[in-house]
Amino acid sequence: MSEIPDPVNHTVDRIYDALAQRAKGGDSAGVPMSDAINPCDRAIWYAFRWASPPETPNGPRESRFATGEAWETRLLDDLQAIGCDVERVDPATGKQRSAVLADGYLRGKLDGLVRGVPEAPAALHVVEARSLKAEKWRGVVKHGVQKHIPEHFAQCQLYMSALGVDRCLYLCVNKDTDERHAERLYADPAFASAIEARIVRIVNCAEPPSRLHDDPAAKAAWQCGLCRHRAICHEKAFARVNCRTCLHSTVWTPWKCDKLNLLMTWDSQQAGCEHHRYIPALVPGEQIDVIYGDCIVYQMEDGDHWIDGERQAA
Ligand code: SF4
Ligand code: SF4
Repeated sequence: MSEIPDPVNHTVDRIYDALAQRAKGGDSAGVPMSDAINPCDRAIWYAFRWASPPETPNGPRESRFATGEAWETRLLDDLQAIGCDVERVDPATGKQRSAVLADGYLRGKLDGLVRGVPEAPAALHVVEARSLKAEKWRGVVKHGVQKHIPEHFAQCQLYMSALGVDRCLYLCVNKDTDERHAERLYADPAFASAIEARIVRIVNCAEPPSRLHDDPAAKAAWQCGLCRHRAICHEKAFARVNCRTCLHSTVWTPWKCDKLNLLMTWDSQQAGCEHHRYIPALVPGEQIDVIYGDCIVYQMEDGDHWIDGERQAA
């Protein structure tokens, strides 16, 4: 007898669809400060080069983002309620304040700036407001954010460095119990500069930098198992076609096309053009020849030849 499928919950499905439609997601213009201490140089490079498909919007994940945003607002409200002066948006733009380092390629957005923190009322602080799962929250309370969530600590350091502010208030809430925890951090310019220098090096690599793990099946290679670039990194998938995977593009502010001698907008980079030729290291084959002037011939693992640009040249 054939299996009876599980009943479909149309209401929940429609809610998830509606949430997924609101997803902002997609590619980042630069390297997000939230990803700045990703241990894999190559993963940062792939994301910066828009090499892998963007994550598919997903209802529950969008719901979690929305919950995080609602908590950010509440935590800033808390600060105002105790008499702090909270600046939530950049008065010059009316939008969330941006933090930019590494020639514009390392980017983030601040939750706000605050004055009047009871422990140091006169000092200006960057605010980082977070809602955390109970276990994470307890870890931060016990060990401090630097030790327990180093990526949040790095983000705070980069915000301080970008804005020239030397203190940060890390305010977090336990999502299960609503308990708050606040930690004041001091700027560590050497730490921030080291991250910035690493990102400059990675974004200026003409080819994918070394892998964190050459064998994704190794016991220690758990990051590869969770990595969205695994297919192009280890499984011989092709990268996406856009200007950032094209050998004619130059990392510049803004990006430059050396073939057409154009400065490129975000939209034109996303679209690419018929002259696109993969950066050879992004093709899962060995480059063996150039024909018709600018078509690149690759020998693939199965022995077949694949010609990048053949369709245009034909
Ligand atoms: S699959 Fe592993 S080595 Fe490749 S980019 Fe991801 S983390 Fe780095
Ligand atoms: S040749 Fe086309 S795809 Fe390549 S960088 Fe220039 S505009 Fe982009």
